[in-house]
Amino acid sequence: MELLYKSTRGKEEAVTASKAILQGLAGDGGLFVPEEIPGLDLSMEQLAGMSYQETAYEILKLFLTDFTEEELKYCIRSAYDEKFDTEAVAPLAKVDGAYYLELFHGATIAFKDMALSVLPYLMTTAAKKNNIQNEIVILTATSGDTGKAALAGFADVPGTRIIVFYPKNGVSPIQEKQMVTQKGDNTFVVGIQGNFDDAQSGVKAIFADKALKEELDRAGFQLSSANSINIGRLAPQIVYYVYACAKLLEEGELAAGERVNVVVPTGNFGNILAAYYAKQMGAPIGKLICASNDNKVLYDFFQTGEYDRNRPFILTTSPSMDILISSNLERLLYRIAGADAEKDVELMGALEKEGKYRITQQMKEQLEDFCGYYATEEEAAAVIAGVYGNTGYVMDTHTAVAACAYKKYTKETGDETKTVIASTASPYKFARSVMEAVDAEKYGGMTDFELIDELSKISGVEVPKAVEELRTAPVRHKTVCRASDMKKTVREFLGVE
Ligand SMILES: *Cc1c(COP(=O)(O)O)cnc(C)c1O
Repeated sequence: MELLYKSTRGKEEAVTASKAILQGLAGDGGLFVPEEIPGLDLSMEQLAGMSYQETAYEILKLFLTDFTEEELKYCIRSAYDEKFDTEAVAPLAKVDGAYYLELFHGATIAFKDMALSVLPYLMTTAAKKNNIQNEIVILTATSGDTGKAALAGFADVPGTRIIVFYPKNGVSPIQEKQMVTQKGDNTFVVGIQGNFDDAQSGVKAIFADKALKEELDRAGFQLSSANSINIGRLAPQIVYYVYACAKLLEEGELAAGERVNVVVPTGNFGNILAAYYAKQMGAPIGKLICASNDNKVLYDFFQTGEYDRNRPFILTTSPSMDILISSNLERLLYRIAGADAEKDVELMGALEKEGKYRITQQMKEQLEDFCGYYATEEEAAAVIAGVYGNTGYVMDTHTAVAACAYKKYTKETGDETKTVIASTASPYKFARSVMEAVDAEKYGGMTDFELIDELSKISGVEVPKAVEELRTAPVRHKTVCRASDMKKTVREFLGVE
């Protein structure tokens, strides 16, 4: 049976999965959502014996129904190969009473690799299926990790170009270095004078510009998105939650029918939405614990039912979560409103005009699977130091926000359900903040690469290739622009004046 995708804003015809992937954002500004969330057609016991790649096929075939078996298996095989430094792809580490689902073993050592290593293959396969002649231009706003993972995924992929906008002063030095040293003739990286929300709003405005779209079409280009608003990102992220449950069952950590809670360090709400979809599909997941840093707009939302972005944007040591407009929440809102596009348009309109909205009581009641917790900078740093001190395990700053949320949740509720913590980045990506959390005095004066060597010593984990390469990589991208000039910059890159 074919699964179609419709826009959360309801003004567009439903489209096939391949068309939704190509388009990224729906033409009415909404996000594509599946008409229904498919149920798993295998039992958890059957899934338990499967490799990551096999699990990926079982999930993706249910969502991307217009791809053939051969196409999907080609995409999966090409994505989840030696680019990952472990055969498990997403291994679980049992530390301090929780299971850390390590999603950072790919090419750019952040969880974005989980989806962005497969998206270029899904995208080019989708272009072929739909007889697209235009070159596909991936336009991406990044809070640091998506940019590099998308660049790595799309670099030198025939028929594509990629333009990444990042907040010039809003990413870690390692993140910036990873992006500006990117190779590939089809890659463009631009720092903007603004924060992530400015970058994301700028990209959305470019997508919504119909005149520009026609102009680009005449020049042989069409835009698509590698952001988590693309359904081709979301579907592959469901895989690792199902896989984690299956592995815990296989290893005897979970009994048949037993549920796990999941904690997700959240920014744009893509990763936790994937966990929610996994639960809806039938994976044995209990609570979905949404962890925020000081930009705790989601925490407040789950407390009160009011989403309010009117507050200072705080730069933290978990920059990939420094977000006040969590785009993927729109998909959840649409669902808890009973697939009501009018309600969605109303709420999103209020968000745009007033920077806030309030959901109805009825909608709020459907959020009972979710709860929100947040960690301050000090609390997150204390968790890094504490877990390292107790166990020797070193986690990154984003994962620390989740670990802290987990501690607060268990303390407050007494819930002893086993818990998976989504571990979204390698500590090497945020070496300075991590090492300063461990011992500010000792490590405070060191350079970034000295810290990396120290991190290797204390964790016993080899420096990943992705970081090692940066020591000598030349800077290849130097463009900086104002947030208001993003459209102009895109035109210049594409030679469309
Ligand atoms: C992107 C990112 C997040 C936030 O994920 P969302 O899907 O945007 O909620 C958390 N941690 C890290 C390290 C990330 O790169």
